Amino acid sequence: MYLSHLDCPRCRKTYDATVLQNLCECGSPLLARYDLVAAGKAVTPQDIAGRSADLWRYRELLPVSDGEFVTTLGEGWTPMWPAERFGVHIGLDNLLVKDEGLTPTGSFKARGAAVGVSRAKELGVQHIAMPTNGNAGAAWATYAARAGLKATIAMPLAAPEISRLEIRAAKAELHLVDGLINDAGKLIAGILKGGGIFDASTLKEPYRLEGKKTMGYEIAEQLGWRVPDVIIYPTGGGVGLIGIRKAFEEMRALGWIGDKMPRLVAVQSSGCAPIVRAFSHGEHRAEPWENAKTVAFGITVPAPLGDELILDSLSKSGGTALAVDDAEILSDLADFAAHEGLLLCPEGAACLTAARKLRASGWLGRQDEVVVLNTGVGLKYPDSISALG
Ligand SMILES: *Cc1c(COP(=O)(O)O)cnc(C)c1O
Ligand SMILES: [Zn+2]
Repeated sequence: MYLSHLDCPRCRKTYDATVLQNLCECGSPLLARYDLVAAGKAVTPQDIAGRSADLWRYRELLPVSDGEFVTTLGEGWTPMWPAERFGVHIGLDNLLVKDEGLTPTGSFKARGAAVGVSRAKELGVQHIAMPTNGNAGAAWATYAARAGLKATIAMPLAAPEISRLEIRAAKAELHLVDGLINDAGKLIAGILKGGGIFDASTLKEPYRLEGKKTMGYEIAEQLGWRVPDVIIYPTGGGVGLIGIRKAFEEMRALGWIGDKMPRLVAVQSSGCAPIVRAFSHGEHRAEPWENAKTVAFGITVPAPLGDELILDSLSKSGGTALAVDDAEILSDLADFAAHEGLLLCPEGAACLTAARKLRASGWLGRQDEVVVLNTGVGLKYPDSISALG
């Protein structure tokens, strides 16, 4: 394994990666660091090309040392395909969809859960707990069951019912909360006080991010080890966005891609847009959003812990942040299905709305190569589909 240590992106303090860690003492999330020189000698893009079609193809850049602890359901290596008809419709000649809907548990949360659970198990964890908007809880309950770990999950009553069923099926302990994900977080914090349970909340442990960063590796590999012009990401906790940026920085250090960085775009719903508000004011921290509400449940995160890292990723990459309305999300979801057939998840559809608007404003050029992430399978959201009429 090439994992060398953890470090704090805010105060630079370093931590031992061979024992369990949560946040830095300054309150910032920690990032996993690797000996990239040694990893780059151990593996090349050519070696990776011949490996299994899942995210473990990048194992030298992942934090699990003993294969015995790898808990997998075949997650990762999702297809990335051109959406030509819809692209032409909104004025983009090179629109690509990375379809995370084909991931176990139906959302890209499985990437973070597979790597997070595997590493937690390797470090001796027997029981994890976390708040969720649905998909993360479903994925972590699933992978915890597969690894033989216990899971305690808290989620808003209003979260999609399918995740409740998934969590119960995996025999995790489920607490329903009349509130938002931050209220579920408070409940979990109370449970953690009892001790003996590992806090696997978003960005409070460093390895979920490592699972999600593999989307960045895949995008580059699927383009023949180069980067697109723009990546549009539906941002809740922002783990995937921060992870994708980390992946590109690692690949650049490894010499696997050139110096070009894609411009990163964070999409939020106008019903919950703390990152967009902070970005538009040039702030480097986000204020909590009051009365959050949107059809794109996966991105209803009023106070993301990774706000600094998200905002830094947007500004350093020359990207931007955009809020879109629920009505537009649903109409682009319908429009995409009419042009390309596939039903996306509302969060994925929000990226299309963003692409359409950024093209109309001229921020995107016709020739720009734009990757949008469809972060979950549309079939998990029968309510939004029936709202289409
Ligand atoms: C969790 C989730 C998101 C947001 O992911 P973050 O990495 O937390 O920003 C987007 N879409 C779906 C479907 C999700 O479940
Ligand atoms: Zn710190």
